[in-house]
Amino acid sequence: MKRERSGAKSPAETPMMTQYLRAKAEHPGAILLFRMGDFYETFLEDAHVLARETGIALTSRNPKDADPIPLAGFPWHSAEGHIAKLLRAGHRVAICEQVEEPGAGKKLLERKVIEVLSPGTTLGDTLLEASSNNYMAALRRDGDRFGLAAADVSTGEFRVGDLSADEAAEELSRLAPSELLLSSAESEELEPWLRAIDLARAPFRTLLDPWRFGRERSERAWLEHLRVASLEPFECDDLGPGLGAAGALLEYVREQKQSDLGHVRGLTRVRPDEGLIVDDSTLRSLEVLEPMPGASRESTLVAVLDETRTAGGGRYLRQALRRPLTDRGKIEARQQAAAILQGPAGRDVLRSALSETSDLERILARLHCGKSLPRDLGALRGTLRVLPNIVALISAASEATEALPRLEPHLRPQLAERLDAALVDTPPASLADGGLFRDSWDPELAEVRSLARDAKGWIARLQEEERQRTGIPGLKVGFNRVFGYFIEVSQSQLPKVPERYQRKQTLAGAERFLTPELKEFEEKVLRAEETQIRRERLLFDQLCDEVRAETGALQAIARVLAELDFLQSLAEVAARHAWIRPELHDDLRLEIRDGRHPVVETAVGRDRFVPNDLELDGEAQQLVVLTGPNMAGKSTYLRQVGLLVLLAQIGSFVPAAEAKIGLVDRIFTRVGAQDALARGQSTFLVEMIETSRILHHAGRRSLVLLDEVGRGTSTYDGLAIAWAVTEALARPDGPRPRTIFATHFHELTRLAETSRGVINRNVQVKEWGDRVIFLHKIVDGGADRSYGIHVASLAGVPEAVVKRAQEVLTQLERGAARDLGAEDHATSAARGGASPTEPSPPAGARQLSLFAPPEPRFLDELRRIDPNAVSPLEALSLLHRWRAELDREG
Ligand code: ADP
Repeated sequence: MKRERSGAKSPAETPMMTQYLRAKAEHPGAILLFRMGDFYETFLEDAHVLARETGIALTSRNPKDADPIPLAGFPWHSAEGHIAKLLRAGHRVAICEQVEEPGAGKKLLERKVIEVLSPGTTLGDTLLEASSNNYMAALRRDGDRFGLAAADVSTGEFRVGDLSADEAAEELSRLAPSELLLSSAESEELEPWLRAIDLARAPFRTLLDPWRFGRERSERAWLEHLRVASLEPFECDDLGPGLGAAGALLEYVREQKQSDLGHVRGLTRVRPDEGLIVDDSTLRSLEVLEPMPGASRESTLVAVLDETRTAGGGRYLRQALRRPLTDRGKIEARQQAAAILQGPAGRDVLRSALSETSDLERILARLHCGKSLPRDLGALRGTLRVLPNIVALISAASEATEALPRLEPHLRPQLAERLDAALVDTPPASLADGGLFRDSWDPELAEVRSLARDAKGWIARLQEEERQRTGIPGLKVGFNRVFGYFIEVSQSQLPKVPERYQRKQTLAGAERFLTPELKEFEEKVLRAEETQIRRERLLFDQLCDEVRAETGALQAIARVLAELDFLQSLAEVAARHAWIRPELHDDLRLEIRDGRHPVVETAVGRDRFVPNDLELDGEAQQLVVLTGPNMAGKSTYLRQVGLLVLLAQIGSFVPAAEAKIGLVDRIFTRVGAQDALARGQSTFLVEMIETSRILHHAGRRSLVLLDEVGRGTSTYDGLAIAWAVTEALARPDGPRPRTIFATHFHELTRLAETSRGVINRNVQVKEWGDRVIFLHKIVDGGADRSYGIHVASLAGVPEAVVKRAQEVLTQLERGAARDLGAEDHATSAARGGASPTEPSPPAGARQLSLFAPPEPRFLDELRRIDPNAVSPLEALSLLHRWRAELDREG
């Protein structure tokens, strides 16, 4: 491999460095990769960054110079991995290529930035995960409206909406974009808002001039791009700031990719009120897509649920999980499809046919961004070939033709035939190797190829002739890359070499020669090779054009395949685990019999998992206070309910004996504060922020799952907060969302006596001497204590400590009971015999005195003492007396 170096002139002034600095100045803020021969090089500050981020050695371009220029680089063939590292570390990367062929002479080659890469626009396989989307978003604010546009460049999907601040935050959290475009005029004011959104990872920010977000300019850009007279068919004509964001995003991506983005064929309007809203924090608490920090991938729902066979199907499934449905008709259609596909045809034959298809969306994206490879066309042909089998399979099940998406309208048999006729059976990895097309595809190509192929025979003939003519039996005609063709004669035979041989090279035991005839042949062969490669490139471009012309149909095929794959995955999982089809209702009831946690069940084994029931109706059974010791299974149950509702509303079957699901419009969870520390916020603060969000936003149709709210602070604070939150959720004049509140504060069970709709359940445990056995069964009624001490003993806390804890607990409980009795009396007197359904007055001071421990008697004396007025001796004797009093009370 060749690494170009320039002469000894002062480096900063070489024409090449001038060229470099000019390119660099045009792309401020990007690491510029400067192509030199077989290498991409970086200089100056960029070289330091590259060395730091990728571990490549830092050298210098002119080590002997007084003022050396730092240099770091890597060979072109390893570019993808290095670029991925730079992007992941949050850099933008500009690729500056040589745009003319190196010729003879030392002329400076022309170079141009042909592409700028950023996390949102990459198409490299190293950075993209096949079964996840990679979104890039743009945001523009207009008063209290937030225009949000998002694109997945790697699939051509483009969506846009005008949203409220909350809706925009939810949509951003759902899309988890890797890059975000903002107007430089707005970024400062939007930053605090952005930072408050619960995002798994902060997107890379790109600031653009405000005029690029202009609505009219954007509308023009989109009308031109889609070649339409109005955006009405896309339901986007009435968009406000969203359109500005969509325009800025379209133009930005086009510039970055230097592509017309022909694979972006539409604009989808985001309607915030559609579907079941599951925010990012709920997705994380329920471990839907990502495991908790430190847990394995197997602990996620998607690990159990992903039986897709294609990357597109994988993306479809993940999107479905991020936005389940609320439209009963649509959910039931998916259920029906999943039921049909559970038949043997659906499961085995369809699955294996789908496995043979390729990721058409990403193939098309590469095709439109000039990144296509021969194997992409091969993969497309392979996919088109299987489609007829899939069509036949689906029409074989007559009922299926109604319930399943249709492929027939999009089939393109002619394109499949063209590709078949053109491409060899196994296309080469790169065009530079040649050999992509069949001889029969193009006569001109066949002719140049035969010339190249004939070279071998011609050489053998020439060798034979020359041996005869010269009488040198060991004479050889050979070829090497540096010297081209030659005739080789060993030392001992040299006297026989004829005049017409021209000496070319001397080896240890032999000499190499040229003849005019050989020279002429060589030129012809090399020309033929070049012509062949040029011809293939031309044919390749033509064929790519033909494919591009079918973009719409191919994208439709990709969508149908992805949906089919998703539906077959639902069917496969349902059949494999014997899940049942849940009944969906428009009322508020949630009834589950023998429900199981899909993931924990897989982990502990079906026969060891204890199934549990649930009944909620938003009225008499509105809020379950779930008590029970730690480790009893409260969190598992809580998550199980959330997951079952989520599964039901993506159209999946569920692990239960029976399930009636009154549709939910939003799931709220407050489960643990796993990753709060990583984000530098106090656990308790995060807990309270989430709780406050729930209290503000939960509605009648919501499902609220709260686990141990109030745990992150001191016991009495925590209990007071838990009490007040529960009361607020059960207020008769409030939205009264269906709620499960799991807590180890067994005191909360008293709320059932005063708040209508609050019911107690607890996780059964069996006591065995001074130990407890967890039965994991949810039963009626509340737990009467927390069993925390039992768990401490289980965990091997020394016996003396456990015993002491038991003593302290007894004391505390005695005191609390005394106070609670007095307080109950006082409260009911104050209420003047009000009905028990009336909400209790706000917590506050009352709660504190409710559960405050009895005050030791000596405290009063202590308060009255002036420490400056007592002698050390008096102090010591006081201390002795108090201690004696305490021991007596003990
Ligand atoms: P809690 O929230 O009450 O502290 P968890 O829900 O974390 O308890 O459950 C503790 C352990 O008990 C879990 O690790 C789980 O494996 C097991 N477990 C929970 N529920 C069940 C169940 N229904 N059947 C079998 N094992 C269960």
